[in-house]
Amino acid sequence: MADEDKKKKRSLSDWMSGRNGADALGICVFVVAVILIIINVFVRTFILSGFSLLLMIYVCWRMASRDVEAREVENVVFLDFVSPIVPWFRHPGTAAKELKEYKHLQCPDCGQRVRVPRKKGKLRVTCPKCGTKFEAKS
Ligand SMILES: [Zn+2]
Repeated sequence: MADEDKKKKRSLSDWMSGRNGADALGICVFVVAVILIIINVFVRTFILSGFSLLLMIYVCWRMASRDVEAREVENVVFLDFVSPIVPWFRHPGTAAKELKEYKHLQCPDCGQRVRVPRKKGKLRVTCPKCGTKFEAKS
């Protein structure tokens, strides 16, 4: 029995090797799909069940994908996209305070996000990444 279990585990890890597996994007899509399925228990629409099924298929396809590099790029794009909203889920209080006290600007040269204190009038900002100086109202 134990040997049988070991064999099963090995064949799964063999199958998983060289494949993308679960990443942040995959987990997030999975959670959204589960939420939609739960909502659909109450509303029961064809569109929602079809859509959640498509999401589940996408999650499985991502995990099984052998093009790990392409999936990695998608994951990075996704993380970049959600990074401004993540603090609102983790620490809503801190995020609200942050928004009240700081303004987030973008470097006109390299696109780097720069945080400046609010209500300080006109500021001369130096980009920490590329050193570009620009003026901004806070
Ligand atoms: Zn810059």
